[in-house]
Amino acid sequence: MQTLERLRKRLMSIDGKSYKAYKGISGSYQGPDFILYIDYVQGDPFASPSRVRVRVSQDAARFPGEAYETKPRRVALEDFINRQLVKAIRKFAKGDRGSGKSGLISVDQPGQQVLERTAVVVNGDFVEARISIGLPAKGRRVLGQQAVVMLTEELPAIAKNTLFYQSLPQDALWEHVHSVEDQEYLRQQLEKHDLVAFIANGAILPRESGISDRPLDKNKAVPFESPKSLEVSFTLPNNGEVTGMGIPKGVTLIVGGGYHGKSTLLQAIQKGIYNHIPGDGRERVVTVPSAVKIRAEDGRRVEKVDISPFINNLPYGQDTTEFSSEDASGSTSQAANIMEALEMKSKLLLLDEDTSATNFMIRDVRMQRLVAKDKEPITPFIDKVRQLSEKMDVSTIMVIGGSGDYFDVADNVIMLDEYHVHDVTEQAKSIADSLKTGRSKEGGASFGSIPRRIPQKESFNPQKGKKNKIVARGTSSLQFGRYTIDLSQVEQLVDISQTQAVGDIIYYTARKYFDGKSLYEALQLTYGDIEEKGLDVISPFYGQHPGNYALPRPYEVAAAINRLRSLKVK
Ligand code: ADP
Ligand code: MG
Repeated sequence: MQTLERLRKRLMSIDGKSYKAYKGISGSYQGPDFILYIDYVQGDPFASPSRVRVRVSQDAARFPGEAYETKPRRVALEDFINRQLVKAIRKFAKGDRGSGKSGLISVDQPGQQVLERTAVVVNGDFVEARISIGLPAKGRRVLGQQAVVMLTEELPAIAKNTLFYQSLPQDALWEHVHSVEDQEYLRQQLEKHDLVAFIANGAILPRESGISDRPLDKNKAVPFESPKSLEVSFTLPNNGEVTGMGIPKGVTLIVGGGYHGKSTLLQAIQKGIYNHIPGDGRERVVTVPSAVKIRAEDGRRVEKVDISPFINNLPYGQDTTEFSSEDASGSTSQAANIMEALEMKSKLLLLDEDTSATNFMIRDVRMQRLVAKDKEPITPFIDKVRQLSEKMDVSTIMVIGGSGDYFDVADNVIMLDEYHVHDVTEQAKSIADSLKTGRSKEGGASFGSIPRRIPQKESFNPQKGKKNKIVARGTSSLQFGRYTIDLSQVEQLVDISQTQAVGDIIYYTARKYFDGKSLYEALQLTYGDIEEKGLDVISPFYGQHPGNYALPRPYEVAAAINRLRSLKVK
């Protein structure tokens, strides 16, 4: 291996030369206590930045085994180091020093969730940080001296402060690791106790603003408090006993006046599939991992989904067992969203009246009288929600402030009153008994069949022109070849690095497994590979710098595939 000194000399020797001369620096270099891998060198200062890895052997890094011996601990530790890297870069990297991305040093930037990522790797042999570098230039000429500073001074200073156990704030490190472990534990308890979600007393659910995922100021937020009747307690592995509201399997309504905090509670539940950082306020809010937010999404594409449990007899005899649309309506899109979630074996559906199609949710007795059933294609959700729960073990939590018809089909009704939660199941049931709706039940005795679709490999062409182009644009859209997938309504995608991973998982699965297997089976196989080989496996740069990925769930990958306008299924 070459020395860092060698790199320094090489950079000085190309000072002032054309930018292409940088290409010669790729390779690996031994520094004091670390190895620098230069995996990819950008073609010009405006192109996507160069990719390097800094690796420290555990002999020098000395992280105790307990900090990464289980997967939740390892993910938490990697996430913690990742956050420290962000801080150290801010401190030690001078930044902008010329044209384009010159001077940039960056690493993946985690938000409020603790996700499995590829930015930092910790194992028994080494600790490694995957970093992007804008090799500096003036115009298109190499700034050799500046590159020397970045690669042989700034980068080592960043590494020194983040990749060695002794240099990290250890109380915070262990708080991070222990908190994530507790959250994993809590989530595992749900199934054992026939619960689908848990919200600890004291949790802070509201967020700072509509565009910020940080907690609302402690002085303004009303901490969560469970009604006594729904209270459950658990003993955490690290932080003692925790008490809060357990939402049982079945059908749960969240009711209450407008602006009393209903949607905020549901949103915390839908994010409870993820672990959160200490201080987030939701670090003891957990939900079963297969929970899927369901909403109306008019305009989305639908490809041959059996929506017949909800929609039948469309005008002009359109088939709804293989329903396709380039521009679905509110109700058909919501039906497709449910059927696709069931196809992926979701066990918990989350609905909010704010984002649902009214005609999909309810059809009251007066409307039943006026519009005959054979003139109404929609069987409303109210007539299906119990079948889902009783026959298929699929629970629902829904915000419904506007229709008491649902009292008839609910197992639990919780009411928000000025952000305080009350169990009003008894009252709701006695109201339902004394005030009969008189509706007739629609849609038959059984739920109907669940789709099993086989995507065709040809649907997935990552090329735009001659090059592969799979690029995340925030969490709201993903470019896949010539197509842009609209993910703005896929609410449980929380990080741009997840969006990027969604794109590369689609391409990986298309290459390896979309050969006659169903959507569900093919994604299962891909996730098996990820579990076995790590998230790096989906990268075209496998073995080098694997890009910036955070793990999405199969549900979000399926959601993206379902919205890809070139998707064809058999
Ligand atoms: P609803 O769905 O019942 O109409 P929202 O959940 O949208 O109400 O909440 C209305 C407002 O109240 C939002 O601005 C939200 O941030 C705020 N809010 C929600 N829960 C709390 C709470 N526990 N403490 C303080 N503010 C809250
Ligand atoms: Mg609301």
